[in-house]
Amino acid sequence: MAETGTPGTPGDRNRHQEHTGPAAHIDQQALDEVVTFTSDLIRMDTTNHGGGRGNERQAAEYVADRLADAGLEPTLLEKAPGRTNVVCRIPGSDPTADALLVHGHLDVVPADPAEWSVHPFSGEIRDGVVWGRGAIDMKNMDAMVLATARAWARAGVRPRQDVVLAFTADEEDSAEFGAGYLADQHAELFEGCTEGISESGAFTFHTGDGMRLYPVAAGERGTAWLRLTADGRAGHGSKVNHDNAVTRLAAAVNRIGEHRWPQRLTPTVRAALAELAALRGLEPPEFDAPGFDVDTLLARLGRESQLVEPTVRNSANPTVLDAGYKLNVIPGSATGYVDGRILPGGEDEFHATLDALTGPEVDWAFHHREVPLEAPVDGPAYAAMREALLHFDPEAHVVPYCMSGGTDAKQFSRLGIAGYGFSPLRLPEGFDYQALFHGVDERVPVDALHFGVHVLDRTLLALRGTREA
Ligand SMILES: [Zn+2]
Repeated sequence: MAETGTPGTPGDRNRHQEHTGPAAHIDQQALDEVVTFTSDLIRMDTTNHGGGRGNERQAAEYVADRLADAGLEPTLLEKAPGRTNVVCRIPGSDPTADALLVHGHLDVVPADPAEWSVHPFSGEIRDGVVWGRGAIDMKNMDAMVLATARAWARAGVRPRQDVVLAFTADEEDSAEFGAGYLADQHAELFEGCTEGISESGAFTFHTGDGMRLYPVAAGERGTAWLRLTADGRAGHGSKVNHDNAVTRLAAAVNRIGEHRWPQRLTPTVRAALAELAALRGLEPPEFDAPGFDVDTLLARLGRESQLVEPTVRNSANPTVLDAGYKLNVIPGSATGYVDGRILPGGEDEFHATLDALTGPEVDWAFHHREVPLEAPVDGPAYAAMREALLHFDPEAHVVPYCMSGGTDAKQFSRLGIAGYGFSPLRLPEGFDYQALFHGVDERVPVDALHFGVHVLDRTLLALRGTREA
């Protein structure tokens, strides 16, 4: 950004972008296709019921057909029948460049038609909005990627770097049949990929007082689902028993639930807080000053504090208790479950804290575990995403954030791929994106999809430059 003679003034910066930015390749056909593809994919019921029950094959074949139609060579991969993934490499013009992974899952969470205004698998397009399960999580992004790849083929353009497209099964459960399987068994398909982009970022976040933000995810907390077990002496409920498993478990669960985790600010969260503070005209936060209190800073921000609040500390919430079978019988053991989430770099502290909170009489173990992630916000990938969003929405602000939960990026991180949450959508005020995730009446405006393909095209071609084929 400092190449022009007078950086720093908005006018010069915009002119600079117009002269050197990648050419747009999104034609009317791409704008039509992104809507049709979103709607068609929603109509294919790819509900993931968990425990290995799901079927993505129809959607995978639909995607593969459209990639093949554009002259690309998609590969279909299944760990189990029906659990189909699609991987396709778009060759770049520079074989020495790193590759970029763009991934989207094809499965969706269940939807109960009785709760919805339209049938969740109708894909209905009404008043400029596409309705149905997957409209924002994340058949919209799958459609945007497809429409963009096909627009490039029509225009005869290719990116400088290889772009690997992956459409996965089973993200909404354990990823065992999807990204986990691909990373473990087909790592060769992702050779050269250093960065990945996928869901849960780059949507419009309205602060409610006129500011528009685009949070781009550059990190994820890790998943630490725990099983707690307490043992004791079984016996009659009327007798004296100080060796009661239920009492022990309940005490440990209470300590965990009441624990106040200390603030721990990761680089992504610091970058987010610094930008948000600046947007509110606050002093730059002195994170390492003695007595710095993140909650005080969050309270001085507006609604945007929601973006950061879940990721300033580890967390552990008790969710399930399981003990006993008869009111007058003291059971010999008791079990509980805790949903723990760990910040990047927070594992050791999490372990030590759980050891202390459970104490010597209650054991804890991981029931399910996924790593935390952190991706750089000072590198060229983040800069390209930011530039493309601001190009199409110049009045907005792009901020990094850390996701409180997780995505397929965790699986691909095993291949050394830094993951970003970037599924660009421009949404109107009052459109509660986060509430529609896994929610009732999930839907996406056609305008938002159009914005998304424009931003995606510009971002992918800007990464490490482009050369017309
Ligand atoms: Zn998702």
